[in-house]
Amino acid sequence: METKYIFVTGGVVSSLGKGIISSSLACLLKARGYRVTIQKFDPYINIDPGTLNPYEHGECYVTVDGHEADLDLGHYERFTDIQTTRANNITTGRIYQSVIDKERRGDYLGKTVQIVPHITDEIKRAVKRLGNTGNFDFVITEIGGVVGDIESLPFLEAVRQLRWELGSNSVCVHLTYVPYIAAAKELKTKPTQHSVKKLQELGIQPDALVLRAEHHISNEMRRKIALFCNVAPDSVVQSIDVDTIYRVPLRMHEQGLDEIVLRKAAVTNAPEPDMKPWCDFLDKMDTASHVVTVGLVGKYVELQDAYKSIDESLFQAATYNGHKVKIKYIHSEKLTDDNVEQKLSALDGVIIAPGFGNRGIEGKFVALKYCREHDIPTFGICLGMQCMVIEFARNVLGLKDANSTEMNPGTPDNVIDLMEEQKSISNLGGTMRLGAYECQLTPGSRVAEAYGKYVVSERHRHRFEFNNSYREAFERAGMSCVGQNPATRLVEVVEIPGKRWFIGTQYHPEYSSTVLHPNPIFLSFMKAVIDYHNEKENN
Ligand code: GLN
Repeated sequence: METKYIFVTGGVVSSLGKGIISSSLACLLKARGYRVTIQKFDPYINIDPGTLNPYEHGECYVTVDGHEADLDLGHYERFTDIQTTRANNITTGRIYQSVIDKERRGDYLGKTVQIVPHITDEIKRAVKRLGNTGNFDFVITEIGGVVGDIESLPFLEAVRQLRWELGSNSVCVHLTYVPYIAAAKELKTKPTQHSVKKLQELGIQPDALVLRAEHHISNEMRRKIALFCNVAPDSVVQSIDVDTIYRVPLRMHEQGLDEIVLRKAAVTNAPEPDMKPWCDFLDKMDTASHVVTVGLVGKYVELQDAYKSIDESLFQAATYNGHKVKIKYIHSEKLTDDNVEQKLSALDGVIIAPGFGNRGIEGKFVALKYCREHDIPTFGICLGMQCMVIEFARNVLGLKDANSTEMNPGTPDNVIDLMEEQKSISNLGGTMRLGAYECQLTPGSRVAEAYGKYVVSERHRHRFEFNNSYREAFERAGMSCVGQNPATRLVEVVEIPGKRWFIGTQYHPEYSSTVLHPNPIFLSFMKAVIDYHNEKENN
């Protein structure tokens, strides 16, 4: 089969869930046995989101090959179990950078370099890069932003040209919003009509419309939208708010979105999707009745998407353990010795979040001291693991001013220090220790038991590391280094063996947890959380 290209565009407003719709479509096509990949094109000028503050774009996701990516790539992986790479996330910045590099090399042979055709050609090449490998039947391309934005114009022009060139090998799915005016008790279709008009003005006729709405959209209203938008009536589907994003693939399948796409792409005799494993997951979720509460201590807790992958990993792990999880977000800046008892004592488990910089750091130490002394199941991730080490150094080893040189470059006890290869680096973008590295686990440790093996590969995003010259002192006092990089001896996992569950990972296991393959360390943590919850209830 020739590679089919599906473009997903969005209209009216942002945050409609293009990433979820794209992921759901990929999930359904994969369940039919097709080889699928999804890529995201972001119209901003940053080369990647690695240097963006979480306030701007939420969590920064990391791919196995060490690309700092848009958080939608996390959805893609969680929904499809397909690993993405740097080729799956392109920004305007990267497009321009490669065009400008070519111009400097003289590749354009003295021609005037312009948005059309040079930028648009570069975009088209990027769209087809994964398809050209021959590894995929479907390449789904999500165009970030909203139709009508100045910034997305070159991308949409590239899509227009590609649609023309690819003919029936391309499909366009447009996602819009149908607002409900409460006072009039009415859903309104006009914004959808306008956004499709805008797309048509740019020369793109969508094949299918997905209407995001808070209320059911009647067939009559769908027919009206179809009529005004030159779309077949059966190709207008609705996407109503659901309790979990993981129901969306089934909702789309019930309305035939995957069928519509296959038909438009002229694919015949497609096998039916095997959604059994997916439905089993949803059944587990629906039958889980008991709730456990996990506190997440971080400094971006007021932001919905700042810890997206951790939230999803906790949810998956709870579901597989037959429970529901409530995540209580605790602002580390507001945590003090005086209120820690009140804020943490009722929790069944605590996560100390990743992060950068000084703000809110002392609150993490306060939380960790409390959790360690009260033996609450505790999981430190990246900066959270580094904080575990610092708190232990201060309060158990008696190194009062122990710190990370990130927080205090002059600390007398630099138990966390800059990695050797980081010392000469001055640029911030894409220069951390990024992507998947092997980690060797100590036999007999709780973390080795969790994974059920001794060598694992997990993703990283950090500059600082455990300072190995303190290793013996920590081990003697009861904090063990139970995971290390086999080549460099960098410490990847610490644990206090005598505790219920007290583990820190320098890596980010949340990036590799998916619906069908939850991450083992989250499963193990969640089991400890549930056991602790039950133990308290039975006492
Ligand atoms: N700021 C720490 C470092 O750079 C931890 C990073 C993180 O939590 N992702 O090493």
